Amino acid sequence: MPKILKLPGHVADLIAAGEVVERPASVVKELVENAFDASAGGITVEINSGGMTYLRVTDDGCGISPDDAKTAFLRHATSKITGPEGLEAIGTLGFRGEALATIAAVSRIEFYTRECGADRGVNLTLEAGVVTSESAAGCPEGTTVIVRDLFFNTPARLKFLKSDRAEGAAVAAAVLRCALSRPDASVRFIKDGKTEFHTPGDTRVDSAIYSLLGREFLDGLIKANSSDDTVSVDGYVSAPSAARGNRNYQFFFVNGRHIRSKTLQAALEQAYANTLPGGRYPSCALYITIRPGDVDVNVHPAKTEIKFVSDKQVFDCVRYAALGALEQRYADADFPAPSPDIFRQADAPTTPRATVKSSAGGFKSMDADAYRKTYNPGGFKTQVLADKERGVYAPVHDETVGAYETRHRDDDPAPLIADSFRVIGEAMDTYVLIEYGESVWFIDKHAVHERMCFDKLRSEDFEPMPQALITPVICRHGHLNTALLLENAPMLDKLGFTVESLGKDAIAVRRIPSDIAISDAESALSEICAELARGGIEDTARRDNILRKVACKAAIKAGKSSDPAELEEVAKRVVSGEVTHCPHGRPVSYKLTRAALDRSFKRT
Ligand code: ADP
Ligand code: MG
Repeated sequence: MPKILKLPGHVADLIAAGEVVERPASVVKELVENAFDASAGGITVEINSGGMTYLRVTDDGCGISPDDAKTAFLRHATSKITGPEGLEAIGTLGFRGEALATIAAVSRIEFYTRECGADRGVNLTLEAGVVTSESAAGCPEGTTVIVRDLFFNTPARLKFLKSDRAEGAAVAAAVLRCALSRPDASVRFIKDGKTEFHTPGDTRVDSAIYSLLGREFLDGLIKANSSDDTVSVDGYVSAPSAARGNRNYQFFFVNGRHIRSKTLQAALEQAYANTLPGGRYPSCALYITIRPGDVDVNVHPAKTEIKFVSDKQVFDCVRYAALGALEQRYADADFPAPSPDIFRQADAPTTPRATVKSSAGGFKSMDADAYRKTYNPGGFKTQVLADKERGVYAPVHDETVGAYETRHRDDDPAPLIADSFRVIGEAMDTYVLIEYGESVWFIDKHAVHERMCFDKLRSEDFEPMPQALITPVICRHGHLNTALLLENAPMLDKLGFTVESLGKDAIAVRRIPSDIAISDAESALSEICAELARGGIEDTARRDNILRKVACKAAIKAGKSSDPAELEEVAKRVVSGEVTHCPHGRPVSYKLTRAALDRSFKRT
C-alpha cells in the first residue's frame, strides 16, 4: 500500500468540484443561492450558449468587504456558521463554504463586490483558484461573479458535458427553480443577449409562476394548503385536466430551498390516485415550511435532497393539501355558475359577470333580453344573426338610441359635437372595434371598465352593493394575513367585503361586492392582503392600490366575450372622452385614422 498523504489543497478542490459543480447549471445554482443568502432583491443570471465559456450572476445583496473578498474563495470559508451547533438550525442556503472555492478551482473568475454603504468595491480575478489580480473597483453595491471557461483545467469533466443547447436548457431550468423558490426576489435570466424570463419579485407565487411558466400553466392550477403544528404547506397543484406526461413541473420547496424528494412526489401523486390514469402526472409548486431542526439538509453535496425527521408528517401534510385542493375543485364543479339564490338581492342576474352596476347611471347590467328591448325593439336577434353571417356585429342606431353627444378630450372648454360611432365588433374577446368619424378605434374593454369601476369606488358617495353568500367563501391565508384582514375589517366592509374570523388562520367571507364573481373573491382578498402587508407606503396610495385591485376584479375581463350592450357602453365612455387611461395609467384606445390606413395602402 502506498503511504497515505494529505492531498494538496488544490487537488482536494478539484475532487470536491466534481461533487458540487458538475455543469454550468450547478454553478449557477450555487451563485444564485449565495445571492439569496446575501439578501439580494434583484438577481441577474446571464449565460452565453451553454454557459461553459461565459456565465454571470449579479446581485444587489449585501456585498463583501475588500478584506473578506479573498477569504470567500478559500475552502470552508463561510460567514454562515461558526461551529457544529450552527448546523442544527441552518437558515441559509449555503453553509459549507465550498462553492466559491470549488468553482474557482475549475475556471477563470472575475469577481466584483461592493459592500452596502461602502464607497468603493473590489475586483479580483482568479485562475484555477489562484488570485491573479486584485484592485479597487467602482462597482455597484452587491456582487457580480463572472465565470469563464468552466473545466478548462479538468478535461475529464469537460467530456461529460452535453451540447451547448442541453447545458443552456439545464441552466434555464436551474434559474427557474431558484426564481420560483423565492417569489420575493426579482430574477432575470438572459441567454445569448436575450431576456428569457424575469420575475417581478412582488412576493406572489402566482406572479412568479406566470412570468416563468406562462398564463396557461397558471390557469391549470388550484390553490392548495394544509398545516399542522409544525409543518405547513402552501402553493398550487394542478387540476386533473392539466396533468402532464412527465414530472418536470413538480416543484417542491422546503424552507425556501428547492428539493427533490420521492416522499413528497409520492404524497402528491397519491392524492390524484383516483383522478389520473397511469402515465399522467400532476404538477405543483408547493412551499413547505418546517422547523429547521426537523429537517437535515446536510445529506447531499448540492443540498437538493434532504431528510425529514418525520417523513410521515410531511407526507400527510402534502397529501392533504393536494386532496383539499382537488375537493375544492369538485365542489366548484357542482356549482358551475352561481345561481340567483346565492345572492340576497332579488334582482341579481344569473351571471354575475354580466352585471356591472355604476353609480353614475352608466354601465348598466344588461343581458341580451334587456338589450333587445332597449336598443332594437324591432328584433335584435335577427340583426345579430344576419350580421354574424357577414362576420361582423353592427348594432343599428335607430331613433330610440339617438346619436351620442361626444366631447373631444383635450379641448377645453369642450365643444360638444353631435356625432355617432358604430361598433364594428369585438376582436379576440378583448378589443372593441368602432368606426368613429374618419377613423377606426381599438378599445381595450377591460381597461375602460376597470377605470369606470375604479372611479366609482373612489367617488365620495360610493355605496357598496354587496351580495350575501349563502355558502361563505373560506380563505386560508395563514396567521399573519388572517390577522391583517380582520384588523382591516371595517375598511373591507366599506368596499363590500364582510369577513369573519374562523379560527386563527382562516376567515369566512360572508359578503362580497356584487361586481365581483364568487370565484374571484379569494384572490381579491389575497391581493388586498399583500397590499396591506406592504410597508413604506402612504395611506392614500395604499387605499388607491387596493381600489385598483378591486376594480380590476370587478371589471369585465379580456378574453371573455361581452354582450353588445357592454361593448357599446365601453365605446361610449371612450368616445365621450370620459375614460382615457386605465387606473394603472395605460391608454385605453388606439386609433387608426383614414389617412394612416390610406398611407399603408399607398393610396396617397
Ligand atoms: P457558503 O455559501 O456555503 O457559505 P460559498 O463558497 O458559497 O460558501 O461562499 C463563501 C462566503 O462568501 C459566504 O459565506 C458569504 O459570506 C460570501 N459570499 C459568497 N457569495 C456572496 C454574495 N453574492 N454576496 C455576499 N456574500 C457572498
Ligand atoms: Mg454558497
